Parts: sequence; structure tokens; C-alpha cells
Amino acid sequence: MLEPDVLVIGGGPAGVAAATDLAEMGFTVLLAEQRDRLGGAIHRAYVGEGRSPLPVPGRHRRNWQRLQQRVIQAGSRIVTQCETIFLGVDGDARFLLDDRRAGRVISLQPQAVVLALGAVERVSPRPGWELPGVTTAGGMQVQLKETGEAPKGPILVAGTGPLSLALAAQLTATGNPPVAVLERGQPFRAAFAHVGAAIDGLRSWSNMMEGLGYGARLLLAGVPYRTGCTVTAIEAVAEGLRVTSQHANGTISHHQVRHLALHDGLASNNTGLPAQSIAGVFVVRAGDCREVLGAEGASSDGRRAAQLVAKQLGRPSREAAFDAQLFAARRTQNAIGKLFDAPALSSTPDTVICRCEGLRRADLEGLKGVQSAREIRLVGRFGMGACQGRFCARAVKEIAAEAAVSFDAGELGGATLRWPLRPVSVASLAAWTDS
Ligand SMILES: Cc1cc2nc3c(=O)[nH]c(=O)nc-3n(C[C@H](O)[C@H](O)[C@H](O)COP(=O)(O)OP(=O)(O)OC[C@H]3O[C@@H](n4cnc5c(N)ncnc54)[C@H](O)[C@@H]3O)c2cc1C
Repeated sequence: MLEPDVLVIGGGPAGVAAATDLAEMGFTVLLAEQRDRLGGAIHRAYVGEGRSPLPVPGRHRRNWQRLQQRVIQAGSRIVTQCETIFLGVDGDARFLLDDRRAGRVISLQPQAVVLALGAVERVSPRPGWELPGVTTAGGMQVQLKETGEAPKGPILVAGTGPLSLALAAQLTATGNPPVAVLERGQPFRAAFAHVGAAIDGLRSWSNMMEGLGYGARLLLAGVPYRTGCTVTAIEAVAEGLRVTSQHANGTISHHQVRHLALHDGLASNNTGLPAQSIAGVFVVRAGDCREVLGAEGASSDGRRAAQLVAKQLGRPSREAAFDAQLFAARRTQNAIGKLFDAPALSSTPDTVICRCEGLRRADLEGLKGVQSAREIRLVGRFGMGACQGRFCARAVKEIAAEAAVSFDAGELGGATLRWPLRPVSVASLAAWTDS
């Protein structure tokens, strides 16, 4: 096993950009990625024969080809280890990785670590969202990107944000357009209310063109894009799912579908990650894992992280400024946030809040006298499932606030360093090796 100078975790644009810059500065790098190939959320590799039938915007394809080329040129300075999952940091500040190919946990103490673990999708609890047939938009997109095939049967896409639009266009391109896209926000109306945000959105010409391309594809396929529409209930029926939605003007609609793809935005995947430095090991976060800025922002942020590592380790680095790129990416994301601003969702006592443990809103409200995240975990089991609170911490915090229980959601979501962040087999633990 390579004793790398730097461990980079996450093989998306941020991690690969950081790894290649570091290698070009003369560092040895171990690039660990949980999936079987590099690519991250946006460049999820197609596993079928030939080329993927999915259209990929040219600029994304070219950026990724350049990064892949640089990985090849780096030669032995970058060791890429796929199917390797970051589990956390142990008490001696050793970084733990679950090497699924070798079937063992390995631990390393490099000089520096770049954490580029991307984003998690937000999906707010709604009555029935735990039912089979309901998935996240990102989850459905992964399936689509990897297989090139859309799920069979009628599909409804709902929630808020541009990812819904991208998924709907990609489903259309693979021959199964969704029956509709239900957008909770009212972006066209918001463009008049927030003219500054609309102008900022237009300044990101490439993103605007990408969005218009998706819109045109849906228009040509006759897919309705309904804004101001919120899914209020999902029920299991013999043929799949009956989805009830309500428009801002009060009109109720129903859709009978096989699949429902939900999406309520993205948030940094930073559960349980160490802060800046831990016991002398320099740690820096990069890409969506630090701040959700989109694919181009993530590459720039990975390069910024490489520069910070080089400075910290006292090696001369290329002086490049990334502030302007990051500023532009942040401006675009802020504009998207304003244009797709959507009202909060409501839940009933019966609504499942924690899908890992099947816990409902009533279970949370029934926790008498709890005052801290620790008690909510230990007494209520919220944040104790396989996701370790990555997905439920936010909803639990919002509902607890209504019951006047205030606590740090980060703590429920694992802000304290506790491992494993992901499930790991006992056999792999038993085969533990320090490098
Ligand atoms: C589900 C989803 C779909 C998206 N779709 C689009 C899209 O269609 N178009 C678009 O422009 N943008 C899309 N985005 C946003 C875009 O992908 C990101 O802005 C960009 O890819 C961020 O790059 P990154 O390197 O920071 O993170 P990512 O590309 O997400 O890469 C993070 C990498 O870290 C790995 N990882 C995570 N946890 C661990 C762990 N514990 N151990 C080891 N490896 C780990 C992941 O497998 C992943 O490969 C999407 C984001 C998400 C979350």
C-alpha cells in the first residue's frame, strides 16, 4: 500500500482536480472513491456498451476529459483506489478506509487530507415518501446514467430546483418522458420579484443555456412543467402510487404512476467530517462537500484545496487565483436559490421522518423532556440509522423547533467525530491493517 503524502477522498471533479494539481506539484496522492469508477455525481460512468444515450453538455464532457487525461499523465504519483469508503477518523487521528475490494479496513496518517465527498440530496418528509416506488431524483439519475435506461412505467418528477428539470429531460432522451414535472417554487414569478437574481442567473450563460435546452426538450415532448405545485400525499395502490398535489391557488390534482422522483435541493455531505486539522494532519474540504457550487465551482475549489495543502506543507505551489471562479459560481447558486425558493412542507403525526429506522413525527413529538441531540439519538433513535442523520437531522430540527426543543442539528447529524460513518462488515474490521 502506498504511503501517500496526501489522501484525497472523493473522485468527483473536486477530488480529481485536487489530486491532479497535487501530483503536478510533486506530491504522492492516494485518491479514494467509494464507487467502482471516478466521476462523482455529474460524471457517473455509463456501464453499458458503446456511448451512453444520455446527452451531456459539451463543457462538462470536455472538463472531465481534461481531468481524466491529467490523472493518466500523473502516472504513479496518483494511486486511484475505487470501491474504498471513508469511514471516519479514529482516536489516534488515523483516517479509516473500508477497502471493499480487499475486504479489509485500512488506516492511514498522511501529511494532509482533502475531503471532497460531494453533496447529499435533500428530500423533505411528506406523507408516503417512504413507500416503494418513491426515490430521489438523484438516485433515479444515477440509475439512468449508469444503465442508460429509464425505469419502466409512468414516472412523476416533483420537488424543487433545476435537478428535476435535468432528470426530466434525461428521462425524455431515453424514451420514457415523465408524465409531468411538479415544481414547488414559482421561478418565473420569482424572476420578476427578484430581478437581481434573474440577472445573476442570466450572467451564467452556460447554465442558462443548459436549462433552456432541458426546457426545450420537455416542451417538444409535451411534458407539463407545473410550477407552484406541492406533493401533499403519496399512497400505495395496486398499479403503483397515487400522488396528490396542491397548486398554490388551492387546486388539487392526482397522478397515478409507477415511480415518483423527489428532490428538494442539495446540501454539503459533511456529516461527521473532521474540521480544519486533526492531531497534526492538515485537513481541507473541497467542492460540494465544503459549499455547493456546481461542477465547475467544484473543480476550482479542488484546485484551491490543493494550493492550501501545498502552502501548509511548505512546498512551492503555482500561484493561481480561484476567487473569481468561486464568486461567479456562488452568485449563480444564490440566484438559483432565490428563483426556486419554495414554501416549507407540512407533515402529519403519521409522516415518517427517519426512513432508516421508520420513525414518525408522532415518535419525535412523544419524546417527553428531551433537550439535546444526544437524548434525541439515545432515547428516540433519530440519527442512529445507516445514514447517521445525514438525511433526517434537518427535518428533526425543524419539527423539534415547533415543539420548542432547541439543539444543534449538526450534532444529531454526526458533527462529533464518531465512526463508522458508513456501515462496515465485521470481517473487514477483523482484517484491519495500518499502512
Ligand atoms: C445526486 C446529484 C446529481 C447531480 N446531477 C447534476 C447534473 O445533472 N448536472 C449538474 O450540472 N450538476 C449535478 N449535480 C451537482 C454536481 O454534480 C456537483 O456540483 C459536482 O459534481 C460536485 O463535484 P464534487 O467533486 O464536489 O462532488 P461529487 O461529484 O458529488 O463527488 C463526490 C465523490 O465522493 C464520493 N464519496 C462520497 N462519500 C464517500 C465516502 N464516504 N468514501 C469515499 N468516497 C465517497 C462519491 O461517490 C463521489 O464520487 C448533482 C449533484 C448530486 C448530489
